[in-house]
Amino acid sequence: MTTRDIPLPGSSAAPGNRGRFAFPWSGQNAAVQRKRTVLLVEDEPSIAEPLAEAIAREGFETEVAGTVAESLALAAELEPDLVLLDVMLPDGSGFDVCRELRRRSQVPIIMLTARGEEADRVVGLELGADDYVVKPFSAREVVARIRAVLRRTEPSPGRDEAKPIEIGELRLDPAKREVTKDGDVLELSRKEFELLQLLMQNAGSVVTREQAFEDVWDTNWFGSTKTLDVHVSGLRRKLGDDSSEPRFLHTVRGVGFRFASPDEL
Ligand code: CA
Repeated sequence: MTTRDIPLPGSSAAPGNRGRFAFPWSGQNAAVQRKRTVLLVEDEPSIAEPLAEAIAREGFETEVAGTVAESLALAAELEPDLVLLDVMLPDGSGFDVCRELRRRSQVPIIMLTARGEEADRVVGLELGADDYVVKPFSAREVVARIRAVLRRTEPSPGRDEAKPIEIGELRLDPAKREVTKDGDVLELSRKEFELLQLLMQNAGSVVTREQAFEDVWDTNWFGSTKTLDVHVSGLRRKLGDDSSEPRFLHTVRGVGFRFASPDEL
């Protein structure tokens, strides 16, 4: 099945051009600089179509999927740079898509959640989504969020040059975005990696909960602080740390967390 064979629900786009919203000069542009691709998973055409057009106007290649099945097929085919993901889809839940995408890749994901569904936002973030926007949203707001998430998630030249940090048997390599323990690679989610990087960079000092939120999530995150604790316990489990007597990741009650410095171990 190719992209073009996938019907877009409610779309009036010409056959052979379904779901694609791009500038006519995108071909030339691609030769100079690869356009970044955004996969928009949204079954409601009155939301999907204007949003896809707005994102395309900002210089992104945009593809639309209206179901869980389509979104997974398109994600595998396109390897998009970012996924915008609706929660309620005709054949299932956006959370299942989020979980499945995370199993395959670290592609940045922004959930499109319904107003008042606080639980949805927390579930999405805990499944590894990078951010969320609440409906009804303006296209401008979504585009701003796309740029913010891409800025945070794309390795910057400075980060590429960052030296590996070694603490005990742990080694975090920022350039490779890889953590090893005794040489074995630990499977960390993006957020777990970023949180661990922040903690290891500040080894021996306290990182406050606020700092962690600002650095790893972003300032527009006012949701449940449970997310941070979920990530901390996930990290402890993967590091082999005992939460009642941690070796690496210590809780500083009421303040935040502190990673052991190399000479403490
Ligand atoms: Ca929907």
